[in-house]
Amino acid sequence: MALVDRFGRPLRSLRISVTDRCNLRCQYCMPEPDYVWLPRETLLTFEEIATLTTAFTTLGADRVRITGGEPLLRRNLPSLVGALAAMPAVRDLALTTNGVLLADAAADLRRAGLHRITVSLDTLDRARFQAMTRFDEHAAVLAGIDAAARAGFDSLKIDSVVIRGRNDDELGELIEYGRSVGAEVRFIEYMDVGGATKWQRDAVVSQREILETLSARFGSIAPVGGRGSAPADRFALPDGTTFGIIASTTQPFCADCDRSRLTADGVWLMCLYARAGTDLRRPLRAGATGDELVHLIQTVWAQRADRGAEERLDVDRREPLIPLAALKKDAHLEMHTRGG
Ligand code: SAM
Repeated sequence: MALVDRFGRPLRSLRISVTDRCNLRCQYCMPEPDYVWLPRETLLTFEEIATLTTAFTTLGADRVRITGGEPLLRRNLPSLVGALAAMPAVRDLALTTNGVLLADAAADLRRAGLHRITVSLDTLDRARFQAMTRFDEHAAVLAGIDAAARAGFDSLKIDSVVIRGRNDDELGELIEYGRSVGAEVRFIEYMDVGGATKWQRDAVVSQREILETLSARFGSIAPVGGRGSAPADRFALPDGTTFGIIASTTQPFCADCDRSRLTADGVWLMCLYARAGTDLRRPLRAGATGDELVHLIQTVWAQRADRGAEERLDVDRREPLIPLAALKKDAHLEMHTRGG
């Protein structure tokens, strides 16, 4: 029988963070002047990541997304992509990147077997990009998106976190830009996850507001069904252009969540909002067999009852999830350690 958690959710989608380092400092993710990093010797090697991925696939995982931090900072990433792409059980292999280093990497990633790519881009304005990320890398990201479009991935997506007063006046332009490069845009509601220390409820632009803004500009918008366990609700403009909204903050979708996350040092997290996870590096480095790893993963998943985003809805005075002092003590609480 297929492995399911306490709410009947299967283990399907594994997000693997390959580094906690990043070459941007987005204000909604890494707004602080300095950070506590994972010790380098704790980072899983590509062989260790492949061993763990095999254990996960034994239990039904068939979708893998490589993330970070910024995954393209990890040296030799195409060799990990090649190893994962060679696993028949991995039916879908994707990468999420900020795009800064993508122009030089896209073709190699495609050749190594990467199926799909998502680039995070919140604005089409260079000065705004610099204000939001603290780096003047806008042109590099656009070049990265162009290179990804040329590399011929099965799909190219652009993810934009929408923040009131920062980029909520660019929704239509972002969709049009996506259309021009053959990418589907997905708007992400600003989440109060660890690391978002400046999060405020008022800064969240809800799915409802996003749809109102877009229909005022483009005309009537139709839902596109069949979301399944994917995080985005999909919609179509009157001309057929599709886009998505990930409404994790105002309309969470925990009931369908088949995702879990492996940090770069091997901590396995059941939810973006989880306070702690399961250390898989320790048993792995202590010589656990494949069967023992499978058994451990199976036991933990069978007990999973996380529905972090839904629980946040019940909080009256919603503030940043994790206080700064706690983030300084445990890098695992940070979004940039967990991957998005
Ligand atoms: N560096 C890569 C990138 O930029 O895509 C991968 C890691 S990043 C943590 C993954 C995604 O999480 C990005 O799309 C980012 O915009 C999103 N993200 C980070 N903090 C967020 C927040 N507070 N609310 C919503 N999305 C957030």
